[in-house]
Amino acid sequence: MKLKHALAQKDPADRSERDVVADLKKFLIAKGWRPLRTQSGKFVNPAGAMFNVGEDGMADFCMIHYLPGLNKPVGGSLILWIEVKKPNYRPSCRCEPQHAKVCRMHRQMKWRCEEEKRGAVVVQVDNVAWFDTW
Ligand SMILES: [Zn+2]
Repeated sequence: MKLKHALAQKDPADRSERDVVADLKKFLIAKGWRPLRTQSGKFVNPAGAMFNVGEDGMADFCMIHYLPGLNKPVGGSLILWIEVKKPNYRPSCRCEPQHAKVCRMHRQMKWRCEEEKRGAVVVQVDNVAWFDTW
């Protein structure tokens, strides 16, 4: 995919993860992808019941590109999982031996590994220009 328009207005060092998300959505929507933002964690509904949403460590976006049919939808699609990071993100482990739960970086790595074993494409993006190299 070739990025033909200048999405980045700010100095890359001043860009946040939110800026990268905005660029990413604009770019991929223009290419026909549908972005679905994911969430994971425990939430409480208005009745006070706790429930789980998503999967621990899952990517930030599930991008869907529906395959066109001739006269009607065929029901097929391409799926691309995207984990968004702020520019120049450097992963760091924050696991602590006394805690049973591993750090976010390791939960994300585990989720990605399991999803890729299922056949998924999962990418980590810190700059929409990354798609120029894909
Ligand atoms: Zn860790």
